[in-house]
Amino acid sequence: MRPTGRLHLGHLYGALNNWASLQDEYECYYMVADWHALTTDYANTAAIPSNIREMVIDWLTAGIDPDKCTIFTQSEVIEHAELNLLLGMVTPLGWLFRCPTYKEQLSEIKDKDLHNLGFLGYPVLQAADIMIYKAHAVPVGEDQLPHLELTREIVRRFNNFYGDIFPEPQARLTKSARVPGIDARKMSKSYGNSISIAEDAAVIKQKVQKMFTDPQKIRANDPGHPEGCVVFAFHSIFNPEGKQREVECKNSQIGCVACKAQLVSLMDKAMEPLREKRNSILKDKNLVDDILSAGNKKAKAFAQQTMSEVRKTVLHR
Ligand code: SF4
Repeated sequence: MRPTGRLHLGHLYGALNNWASLQDEYECYYMVADWHALTTDYANTAAIPSNIREMVIDWLTAGIDPDKCTIFTQSEVIEHAELNLLLGMVTPLGWLFRCPTYKEQLSEIKDKDLHNLGFLGYPVLQAADIMIYKAHAVPVGEDQLPHLELTREIVRRFNNFYGDIFPEPQARLTKSARVPGIDARKMSKSYGNSISIAEDAAVIKQKVQKMFTDPQKIRANDPGHPEGCVVFAFHSIFNPEGKQREVECKNSQIGCVACKAQLVSLMDKAMEPLREKRNSILKDKNLVDDILSAGNKKAKAFAQQTMSEVRKTVLHR
């Protein structure tokens, strides 16, 4: 995950809850992708250290447990860069230009010049990040499948030249709840429509009040259309009887004011233990540094072993 500072509920329900359950099943490596942050934000790097810290605090808050997995920083394991370079030798440019997110982001992000080698080549670095740990599985959402497919193609091409060094990683598709932003667009800090993990009670209340609802449901007894309503999307996550709300809304059995008030109290209840956990993490000033330093050491040892094998095979030494 790229270090973007404090995380929001989209991260929690889209990725972190899944990561937390995977650590009981697999030997997991969770990486702070600080070099990847540079592919788009190369001109503005001052916030990276504090963004890393805030993000790791949120990982821990969400239940990512350093006793069960390895949490590390990409740039502290320099071997990723070496493998990236070698993979760059075998990756045809056409594969990178065809990558759907490359074209998409070039057309979407207008305030930065992304015509850089680092941006074009970031799927190669991503392949190196995965391959260096000989990963068998990668937790991805549907939108990231083309990237993983590219990694698999790079693995096949590399193994074809140099022998069976790397396993082909399989997608571990995340069945995640879709969490919209309060304005019904995708939840994103840059849209100003997000709710943070362990958000304050007062902020939750304020943001739920602002949530987009069905504009045709003006009075409590108007029949509603919950399918496009953000409050309903959140009820589906936080309310064990969320399904029932669909019926009540359609049949004019509840109004938006009451529906929102109930959501505020459900979300507040769900966030309370996260707030407590986050506060206790914050009390230990060295915790994040200690976790990253142990994780970096462990990741580096694995990566060094892989690279010595790779150097032997590719460079015959
Ligand atoms: Fe949305 Fe609830 Fe209003 Fe229905 S009653 S439109 S679900 S806020």
